[in-house]
Amino acid sequence: MKNESALVLHSGGQDSTTCLFWALKHFREVRTLCITYGQRHCLEVEVAEKIAQKAGVPFQLLDASVISQLSDNSLTNPDMVMDEEKPADSYPNTFVPGRNLFFLTFAAVIARSHGIKNIVTGVSQADYSGYPDCRDTFIRSTNVTLNLAMDEQFILHTPLMWLSKAETWALADDLGVFDLVKNETLTCYKGILADGCGQCPSCRLRKAGLDEYMKRR
Ligand code: ZN
Repeated sequence: MKNESALVLHSGGQDSTTCLFWALKHFREVRTLCITYGQRHCLEVEVAEKIAQKAGVPFQLLDASVISQLSDNSLTNPDMVMDEEKPADSYPNTFVPGRNLFFLTFAAVIARSHGIKNIVTGVSQADYSGYPDCRDTFIRSTNVTLNLAMDEQFILHTPLMWLSKAETWALADDLGVFDLVKNETLTCYKGILADGCGQCPSCRLRKAGLDEYMKRR
């Protein structure tokens, strides 16, 4: 893959930042795509741009806020109280239906315009909520669909698909960016950098993984 280029879906969070540095190791040229969809915190964009600058790669921003008009979810609706746990019979209200399908479609169209076949995304099947559009079967199916839709040979890469959060910290460490990921990424649903609020589901997942990794570091 070393002679090829890749487009990384980058939000400025722990997972996509780790994927960005994974891509820099495996591809000759890398560019990032940051998609906004009406999230509560626009700080994400600033964080993503700063990390792209540090990594020395082009940064592209796409406004897809139409996604927030399609369904009600607590990531884009400030009046909705965020689910702390996954309800037994459904997904938490942090689930944005169709989000990754839109993201990958936008990414593929943009990758195609740059002559890029490799698309990297930080989705993980081991993620706590079990969002359907983070599963391996969804990614494989979407890969086939995108290739058929555009008569291309895209390859969707998901380096974190089978990793726990602790293993994702280990990967960042292997890539030499443990401190950058720990101190400069934004994962918190409440928009607080680095270790975040410590309370939201995203912070708790990040911290549990970090604690587990630090025990064996
Ligand atoms: Zn938080």
